[in-house]
Amino acid sequence: MPEREETAEERTQRWMEREAKKAEEEEGGRKAKKIRCSKCGKEVDEFMEIAGRILCIDCYAEEEMDEMTAMSMPGEGGGAG
Ligand SMILES: [Zn+2]
Repeated sequence: MPEREETAEERTQRWMEREAKKAEEEEGGRKAKKIRCSKCGKEVDEFMEIAGRILCIDCYAEEEMDEMTAMSMPGEGGGAG
């Protein structure tokens, strides 16, 4: 079977098909990547994972601030007993 050389047109067609498919897959992947924040329930693209919990950027910042506040505050009113 003699190999026929691909014409420029055919090559362009193939390339376009491939690009279209790639773009489609990328879009689909992005949609599938949307994840729900376990704290506020908001659907977000970007998220943080803390101790197995999925948090959106807002909640992550909140949690981090909470942690920092807790650390900077020396055991206030810690009753021993
Ligand atoms: Zn959230």
